[in-house]
Amino acid sequence: MNCEMCGMETKVLKKVLVEGTVLSLCPRCARYGKEISETPKSEIPAPFRKPQQRQEVDIYSKMPEEELVEDYNERIRRAREARGWSQEELGKRINEKKSIIAKIETKEFRPPDALAKKLEVTLNIKLLEKVNENVALKSSSRDKTLTLGDMIVIKEEKKKR
Ligand SMILES: [Zn+2]
Repeated sequence: MNCEMCGMETKVLKKVLVEGTVLSLCPRCARYGKEISETPKSEIPAPFRKPQQRQEVDIYSKMPEEELVEDYNERIRRAREARGWSQEELGKRINEKKSIIAKIETKEFRPPDALAKKLEVTLNIKLLEKVNENVALKSSSRDKTLTLGDMIVIKEEKKKR
């Protein structure tokens, strides 16, 4: 190994910043510049590297859950009226009493999943929606992790220039 400044053979080469350029210099010449310490990849703090993989496993191991939408009563009423059906007629089609339909439409009764699915099919509407806050939270925190990682890469590149 030779010093990039004086050309002298040396066992120890130091990375030194000299007027914006990084040179590998012998200890003697290193005094003329600002010594920089390169951060090996293994020294990047663990939180910046590892969590990505772990989080992705979490996302796929957790199945999204379906939840009744908040305005289910509105959706049912609108779809029913659009078809010109009375509450009684809709009740007949799904084998429920008119009073059940009336209670659902006033939000007095929250249809269980099975009934909600029947209403979905009969009225061709969406009442159950996949809700998984965990996925949303995790993917956003994963984006943050990537951003941090990107920042480190940018920093590293700037140092090398
Ligand atoms: Zn030298």
